[in-house]
This record gives sequence, structure tokens and C-alpha cells, in this order.
Amino acid sequence: MNDGINSKVMKVNNALLVLETIMRRGPIARNELTGLVGLTQVSVINVTNALLEAGIIVEVGRANSGNQGRRSMVVDINEHAFYCFGMELSVGKLVCGLGDARGRLLQFEEIKFPSRSSAEMLLDKVDELVEEFLKNNQIDKRRILGMGIAVPGPLDVQEGIMINPPNFPGWKNVPIRRMLEERLGFRVCLDKETNLAALAESFYGVSVGYKTSFFMSLFRLGIGGGLVAENNIFHGFCDGAGEVGHMTVESSGRKCGCGNYGCLETMIAEDYLIEQVRHLYKIGVEIERPEDIDGITLEEIFERSSNGDDVCEDVVKQTAVYISIAIGNIVNLFSPEMIVLGGPLPEMSTQLVELVADRIHSKKYPSHCKDIKIVKSVLGPQVYVKGAIALAEKTFLSYVLPENF
Ligand SMILES: [Zn+2]
Repeated sequence: MNDGINSKVMKVNNALLVLETIMRRGPIARNELTGLVGLTQVSVINVTNALLEAGIIVEVGRANSGNQGRRSMVVDINEHAFYCFGMELSVGKLVCGLGDARGRLLQFEEIKFPSRSSAEMLLDKVDELVEEFLKNNQIDKRRILGMGIAVPGPLDVQEGIMINPPNFPGWKNVPIRRMLEERLGFRVCLDKETNLAALAESFYGVSVGYKTSFFMSLFRLGIGGGLVAENNIFHGFCDGAGEVGHMTVESSGRKCGCGNYGCLETMIAEDYLIEQVRHLYKIGVEIERPEDIDGITLEEIFERSSNGDDVCEDVVKQTAVYISIAIGNIVNLFSPEMIVLGGPLPEMSTQLVELVADRIHSKKYPSHCKDIKIVKSVLGPQVYVKGAIALAEKTFLSYVLPENF
């Protein structure tokens, strides 16, 4: 490779680094940006000037730079520079969002999508929603940078293929990316839902500014995980990273659907927690039972636990122990700065989140455990669509730069 090509590649890479940092952290002063991206001040000024000239970023003010009273230019992404679509496909539903360059949702819609539907039916539906959203928001299709889709695994991220998602009968090796690109006429990329939730929080949510973070989604049945390492999704071999739900937390525990025993997702599944509570009430003497032990719900268990009910508190504490074992393993392997807990369980119980945080913070090894942030997800149910938009922005960002850049 000759020097001319080398310097061109370096210039583009620097511009992408600066641009992505502005997207994640903006509005941001140029002197602060210089510290974050690790480039010289001159390089950052040159790149931001070129991005300003191309209308991709805008000046939004001045900030004290601490440098002999000079004020540093504050820049931010131009929200109208481009737009992206984000889709979430899961059992029974299809969610579509259209976001501006800041990742703000301009329109969002959730529709029922029977999982027995064919891939062709999905294409028709997506096509229809895209046309409707573009029309409603008066956006020309040529201004769409691309679409990201959050899909259930297993999948081949590089090739854009859904391999054989459970609960989607007849879907086998579906080249969903190619099919959508041909139909829609713009770029498409895809990833697993929980990976995208992790990315969404690091772009627009609670883990902005943390280079390495782990997102754990805690459903009533099923646990997922996604790792953002050095600002990128970590996929691992066969895109199989993050499957924290099948981490063994009790070697002699219940049998899991995957064939192993004592997986996290089977040890804290809703039916198991309810079964435990009922059992403990029935063998307990002189404890105040709810009127309808058999009909007790997960919500009631969490509520009774936070009100000091010993039986429910024991079960919630044990649940926190299992989650903490899994998180402890992740901490030892990847050393994330932040763990984000999403899904219905943390929504239902702040106590559960606090118990998990206490256990992780009290771990003696590694000593930095006390500094790891354990927080709830802040993006709510839109986290997957927002992650899909973030993926499209990140994947196709080089197309935003002017041709002669
Ligand atoms: Zn399992």
C-alpha cells in the first residue's frame, strides 16, 4: 500500500472516530473531544471543520477551554444529516422506528406479526411500514443511511442470515439482509436483540461514556446478554457470545431446555420462583400467608419481599445470588465498567437490583468490583429498536462522509 492510500485511510478512520464520538457524546467541546479520541488538537480541528463544511455536524456554542480564556467550539451532530430505520422482530410482533441522526425516534409503531408468517410476509409488512413512515415524515428515501434489525438468534451476522430461530417454523437459513436490501433499496444490517440493547444504552442511554459494558435482559422466562467491548459489540465464535442465560449457576439445579442443569434462566424462571414461594409458605408455621398462595404472582412476590415478608425475601435474595454468580463470572472475564439490567424483572423490583449490586460490590476479587456500576436500563421497551438504529448508524457511518473526503 502506498503512502497516499495510507494517509487517505487514516484520514477517513480519524473522521469516523471523531464523528461517532460526537454522536455518542454530543454536544461536546472540541477540546474535550480531543482528549477522548486520542488525536492531536490540529487533527480534531481539521476533521471537525471538514464535517462542519459538509453539514454533518453543527456548531452549537462555545465553552470555556481553560486555555488562557479561549473558548472552545461546541459541536453536535446535525440531526437532519441522515436518518435510519430500526426494526425489532420477535415472537408475535414487529416493531418499527424511524430515527434522526441523533437517534431520536420520529415515528414508532408496534404491530402483531404471527410467528407462523413467512419471510415474504415480513418483507411486505416492512416495505409497507417504511413507505408509510417516509411519507408521514416527508423524508426522501435517498436520505436513509440504512436499516438495522434486531432479530432472535442463532444468526450469522456477517452474512445477514437467520439460521433457525426457535418459534419461527419454516425459517431456516433465511438471508434476511439480502432480501430486505433488494426489496427496500437501501443498506440493511442485523444483530441479536440483546447485543443491540447493549449498543443502544452505550449510544443513547445509561452507559454512554463507558467503553466496556454488559447488558443483561431479565425476562420472566429467558435471560439474554450482550457485551459492548471498547465501544463495539463483541460477537465471539459463531456470533455466540453473551448467552448468559445458559451459564451454570447451580450444578445440581433444575434441568434446562438446553439440556444442561442449573442454567441461570431456569433457576430464576417465573414458574420456579412461584413454586419455591408456595412450597416455603406451605411448610412454614406461623407465617402470614397471602390469601391465595396458589394464585400468587411474581409481582406480588417482589412486592411482599420489599415489604419484609421473610418467605418472599428469601426467594428474591436467592434470585439475586444466582444473577450475581453469573455477573461475577462476566466481571472476571471481561471487566466491564458498567452492568445494565433490563427487562421486566428489574422493572418490577428495585430491591433485586440493589441486592445484586451489593453482592457484586462486596466481592473481594478483583478489587475494582466496588467501582463497577450496576444500573437499570433507561431506554425501556424501545431499547431494541434504538439499538437497531445505532447499529445502522455505526455500520454505515462511512457513507455519511462526502465522496471527496
Ligand atoms: Zn440452559
